Amino acid sequence: MTTESRVRISARVASVAESATLAIDAKAKALKAAGVDVIGFGAGEPDFPTPPFIVEAAARACADPKNHRYTPTAGLPELREAIAAKTLRDSGLTIEPSQVLVTNGGKHAIYNAFATLLDPGDEVLVPEPYWTTYPEAIRLAGGVPVFVPSSVSSGYKVTPADLERHLSPRTKVLLFVSPSNPTGAVYSRAETEAVAAFAAEQGLWVLADEIYEHLIYDDATSTSIATVDPRGMDYTVIVNGVAKTYAMTGWRVGWMVGPKDVVTGAINLQSQSTSNVNNIAQRAAVAALTGDQSEVEVMRQAFDRRRRLIVSLLRDIPGVVCPMPEGAFYAYPEVGGLMARDYSGTRPTNSSELAAVILDQAKVAVVPGEAFGTPGFFRLSYALSDADIEEGIKRVTKLVEQAG
Ligand code: PMP
Repeated sequence: MTTESRVRISARVASVAESATLAIDAKAKALKAAGVDVIGFGAGEPDFPTPPFIVEAAARACADPKNHRYTPTAGLPELREAIAAKTLRDSGLTIEPSQVLVTNGGKHAIYNAFATLLDPGDEVLVPEPYWTTYPEAIRLAGGVPVFVPSSVSSGYKVTPADLERHLSPRTKVLLFVSPSNPTGAVYSRAETEAVAAFAAEQGLWVLADEIYEHLIYDDATSTSIATVDPRGMDYTVIVNGVAKTYAMTGWRVGWMVGPKDVVTGAINLQSQSTSNVNNIAQRAAVAALTGDQSEVEVMRQAFDRRRRLIVSLLRDIPGVVCPMPEGAFYAYPEVGGLMARDYSGTRPTNSSELAAVILDQAKVAVVPGEAFGTPGFFRLSYALSDADIEEGIKRVTKLVEQAG
């Protein structure tokens, strides 16, 4: 075989799509760097700096030579203990530190979890709209994402009946994300119980992404699904991290919690790929989880205020239908009513084209619903200043009003 006749990169990796949300964010940041006054609703990250006491813990850790060496793959013992204590404090679940694997962010935990659970052809029920990473992580593990549609009228949530329609003999895992990215939907306790009972009845694993657990508003509550699963933690893998709760997206610390056999498998996988997570960042995470939690509430209140602001501004745009999100920091309006108009000579026919027009003509970045499996919608992060939210939506409103 000649070099030329060999494919350059594997089919597996060639099939991976670039993260659409990161791509939009990068485009907006590049325009900004080039001096263009862009307002970016694309980023999935808090705009606050990490609380100072966490940064100080990291600075101290940096100066301590014990952090300059390899440490156990599974995570620093102090951090695994802090995560076990936090899981009891916040979710009411009693787990052992040995059931924790510290990863390079929640995304890495998702990748490790699917790689550990799935054999080729195993199916995963993925409620739609879904965060872009899940289907790619499932496919990279050889699995098959099976999408379960939801609707605006159901609050973007799925029921056991919806899930049942997509079952097959190959279904192995059910993905449960509450609060949700991209919709901000939060399952009530009763809804969570119903999904847990369905998973237990059907013998499915549950991958529960709880990264937005603390960002909930109004009367919403976060119910950790294993607390209402009759099987307890035996078939649940929880994914979580410090990114969203503590404004620590760049620090890259997340974790998975699960039954011993799954966690041991994932530790072995990680021992052959990335080894231990950066010790400095792990020490910062210990400080975040065990220190004063009051900043979390301060940030939550700011997000809550911005949530009301963005939703009311979006609802004022004729043609936009925007449900009130109850969690995370995203609004997910339906924008079908903005299509098929004339935007200075361009007639967008789908939300992806419309997002491009808005970026081009109004200098506002939003993520089109195509990125989440549901064309006809936009995701707007409201993790930006009140002034930027007002200015950004004002620009979109003006653009829409001018379109014929
Ligand atoms: N889960 C969800 C639902 C998310 O939105 C994100 C970040 N966008 C993550 C997991 C991963 O977060 P990180 O890797 O930054 O910890």
